[in-house]
Amino acid sequence: MCGVVGIFTKSSTDAVELCASLLFRLQHRGQDGAGLVSYAGEGQYQVVKGRGLISDALQEWTTLKPSKSALGHTRYATTGTGGIVELQPFVSGLPKIAMAHNGNISNVHEVRERFVGTLHTESDLELLQEEFLKTYASTGFISAVQHLMDVFEGGYAVVGILDNGDLYGFRDPFGIRPLFLAESSDVVAMASETGPLDVLGDVTITEIKPGEWVRYSDGKLTRGLTVSKKNPESKRRSCMFESVYFSSPQSSIQDTSVYRQRFQLGRYLAKQISADWASTTFLTDEIDFVVPVPETSRIAATAVAEELGIPFREFLIKNPYVPRTFILSSQEKRLQALSQKLSLVGPELKGKRILLVDDSVVRGNTSRLMTQRLREAGAKAVYLASTCPPIVSGCYYGIDFPDRSELIAADQSIDQVSKLIGVDGLFYLNLAGLKKALATENLCTGCLTGEYPYSDAHHGRFVEERRKQRCL
Ligand code: SF4
Repeated sequence: MCGVVGIFTKSSTDAVELCASLLFRLQHRGQDGAGLVSYAGEGQYQVVKGRGLISDALQEWTTLKPSKSALGHTRYATTGTGGIVELQPFVSGLPKIAMAHNGNISNVHEVRERFVGTLHTESDLELLQEEFLKTYASTGFISAVQHLMDVFEGGYAVVGILDNGDLYGFRDPFGIRPLFLAESSDVVAMASETGPLDVLGDVTITEIKPGEWVRYSDGKLTRGLTVSKKNPESKRRSCMFESVYFSSPQSSIQDTSVYRQRFQLGRYLAKQISADWASTTFLTDEIDFVVPVPETSRIAATAVAEELGIPFREFLIKNPYVPRTFILSSQEKRLQALSQKLSLVGPELKGKRILLVDDSVVRGNTSRLMTQRLREAGAKAVYLASTCPPIVSGCYYGIDFPDRSELIAADQSIDQVSKLIGVDGLFYLNLAGLKKALATENLCTGCLTGEYPYSDAHHGRFVEERRKQRCL
């Protein structure tokens, strides 16, 4: 998962400055590195890139010349080896174009075979860009987008600048990865989330639809839908994990705020906990406090507490200066970050029965560590409730858990997972509850069901390559 931004200013406002401002608001989507590109006119670009948080990576962005169009990217590595050459946006080709994307191409290995010896990186963006350029030079922009939609499988939201300074963007045929458009009399902008676009003031924000392209050229915005051979029925399958974990609560998805979606996830989870409890010997009055695992689950935990009538307490305190653990690239880094990240309010926990609420349980290590620390602090009982159903299969479309052997729920029952984590009881929202909470059926739920928008023919190879990259 990454964050992308593209801007064209119709007035004298500097696009580079606006782009940097929006990009900072997408920091939560990637912390491995960042890049900013300014269009300098006549097919020339200026580029600043670096590793780490945006404030470190783009220290030199103020050296970029003011421009009418700019691109920004914040990286969360889901392919590649994490080298500096893989930082986006990429600028290349004849004619020279700029491109950045959020997502993963799952048939990357099949397409890469067409480019033996001519690629410079392990990044799937290089493939997208090379395939785009092949068609763009001969048949133009719309044909180039259509070509990509017919060739590539995966989730991808792309923004870019063409050789003449036009701003463009498009989204994969199933709309797995998100992309939004904002327009006013002063500016045209695209971004991975709606939240950052609010900073532009009085703009009209619309979703770029699955398979749709947008181009701003000669003072005119045009947009159009493609029908991909990969999705001839134009089904929407947007990633449910955007609502569960990734997007900011102030953003909206399919016209509903992520805040509301997370609150609803909590409400449906609470209903399910009540039903599960009713069928066992447990009672909700056996719980003293509902405690969120910061940050994402706080909204859902509020709803769980309200619905169950149990007091809500924030006994886990997050250090805001440590990166989000999920998007770190190795388990070792994640556990190290977690122990630095969370502090416990020890005296309040002594002798108490705690219902922890978390957004999801992926590998289970963080849940296990947290449970262990709560018990060490004297908690009498620890229950865990997850707003996401059990994750039983890998993701190949932009979230970095392709390897099902790493997933705690892949081959274990809920009771077994509960024992492995060390909790006294474990509750997952079920799939029907998730769909009701998000008020849509048009979701990718591949990692929950093993049924994916695309065929799974390339998934095995994708996992093998990712394992190799992680060892480099
Ligand atoms: S497999 Fe899961 S995480 Fe990946 S895109 Fe689909 S819903 Fe999102």
